[in-house]
Amino acid sequence: MIDTNTKVIALIGNPVRHSLSPKIQNYLISKYSKNAVYLAFEFQKKNIDEAFNGAKRLGFTGLNVTMPYKEEVFDLVDKTDRASEVIKSVNTVKFNEKSGISTGFNTDVDGFIKSLEDKKFSWAGSKCLVIGAGGSAKSTIYVMLKKKIKDIYVYNRTGEKVGNIIRNFKDIGSEKIKMLASLGDISSRIEEIDLIVNCTPIGMDIGSYKKLMPIPEEWSLKKKFVLDMVYKPAETILLKKARKEGAVVITGMEMLVNQAVFSFKVWFDIMPDKNDIKELFKIVYNNKLIN
Ligand code: NAP
Repeated sequence: MIDTNTKVIALIGNPVRHSLSPKIQNYLISKYSKNAVYLAFEFQKKNIDEAFNGAKRLGFTGLNVTMPYKEEVFDLVDKTDRASEVIKSVNTVKFNEKSGISTGFNTDVDGFIKSLEDKKFSWAGSKCLVIGAGGSAKSTIYVMLKKKIKDIYVYNRTGEKVGNIIRNFKDIGSEKIKMLASLGDISSRIEEIDLIVNCTPIGMDIGSYKKLMPIPEEWSLKKKFVLDMVYKPAETILLKKARKEGAVVITGMEMLVNQAVFSFKVWFDIMPDKNDIKELFKIVYNNKLIN
């Protein structure tokens, strides 16, 4: 029941109309009997300062931030947690109820860790390949550096962006990052790779992306861990190949739900328990939460 005490949380980004986050968060709000509502707002980049300050002045409890505003919001918050400070990107904001002071978090980091650890991935000493060098690649590489992975190979069609990531992470061991000029450069050593993460929209359910795979078709994925950030469709052609060849598959939907539960924890100080997360996955995969 919405009343004058209802807490407001908003997703901001552009586009957000097809986001699953309002359905996921409103499910958790109802499950934990919180007097709150989660809404989505789409607006132009030039309005980001006003939108952020408007949410603050109106006493919103918090925000989720998606593309393309994660870096802008990093500049707008009063304080940040360690991960968002290093990555320079914020996907969750909490406004202090009394002072309005805003703290920025990056729950993509926590969601990524949980998604891999749920599947029993062992970080130390492993070799990983990241495809892409945008926002999700940055949080992925940050985790890999923190988790003492042995080698991090990164390929992006615009190599310059990999160089930016290496510079940005110079204080946390970026010498482990090896930039690939092409994916062909690693083909002969692909057997050594333990984890592949697709951080591009290739495979996404739009236009020509859907039929594309971010890696060469001939690579064997047997015994690897393969995570695809893309969550629409729930199973991309990369993940279909990975599953068929006996890889451990981590879907973008798992990543999405896992980062969402950490955002919920930021706002309500409640970590949804294992059974509730399981139930949430079931609902998401059964399409009950999908448009
Ligand atoms: P981003 O910051 O815009 O970065 C996109 C990356 O993909 C860039 O490295 C870009 O390369 C590359 N790319 C785009 N189109 C490409 C193409 N046609 N061929 C080759 N590379 C291409 O986006 P992001 O936030 O990292 O998100 C990437 C994907 O992950 C999106 O599909 C997003 O929806 C998904 N995602 C999912 C979750 C989740 O929770 N499951 C979380 C975050 C993101 P250039 O640098 O050359 O442009």
